[in-house]
Amino acid sequence: MAKVTPVVPAQLREVTAGVLVATSTIMATNTTVLTDGGSALLVDPNWSADELDSLATQLRDRELRVIGGFATHAHHDHLLWHPGFGTAPRWASPRAAAVARDERAGLLQALGATFPASLSDLMGRVEPVEHLPASGVPDGFAIELLIHDGHAPGHTALWLPRQRVLIAGDMLSDTEVPLPFWPDDLPAYRHGLERLAEAAAAARFVIPGHGSTGTDAAGRLAADNNLLDAAAQGVAHPADARLVDPTMRGYYHQLCDIST
Ligand SMILES: [Zn+2]
Repeated sequence: MAKVTPVVPAQLREVTAGVLVATSTIMATNTTVLTDGGSALLVDPNWSADELDSLATQLRDRELRVIGGFATHAHHDHLLWHPGFGTAPRWASPRAAAVARDERAGLLQALGATFPASLSDLMGRVEPVEHLPASGVPDGFAIELLIHDGHAPGHTALWLPRQRVLIAGDMLSDTEVPLPFWPDDLPAYRHGLERLAEAAAAARFVIPGHGSTGTDAAGRLAADNNLLDAAAQGVAHPADARLVDPTMRGYYHQLCDIST
């Protein structure tokens, strides 16, 4: 009989004191947990039902109480929640919260027909904020919301100056190319990279929405600018390790199309 290897749902691991990350099997999507004194703020908890179940169990095992949630942007894989996380308030930037509300039908569809109704009902229940309320931030953290557009309206990176950690949302990935989806988003995307530049230069760690946690935030930012330049110049095959992935090559060619 064939041996069945059990799939171990994404395990939380410590990046630096109080900053935990779990990486989903789906598109290497990252959940970030900021914790101090038994309190936790969840950023983009995700993705599959068994992974969300496991995250709830891991938080309980660590005796963490969830005091808030934050969604970096209104794409379906960044708006998720689980009943085991409790009923703490959840937030997003004003523009992201508006998209989560106004485009709910499409976002639910993107979760897929087999996604459990008990979880899809909780998707996207975020309130708009420009700054996180102190009640939702564990002691030991100061969090700056770097709100911009480009990848999605009101996309938000979180800068933790004390820990020098940049939670980048769907920016600064080592696996995904820049993903503005419309020509109008290109200048906004450039502006978004500028918005992140100071934090990226100071960061010890960068946690992207998809991909690996790294120590090379500024290098990733430069690589993204280089790729946007290459697309604008119509360079067919720029040197960039992310383009080994055929899906990313496809996205790069789309980037070239909207750049010209
Ligand atoms: Zn996204």
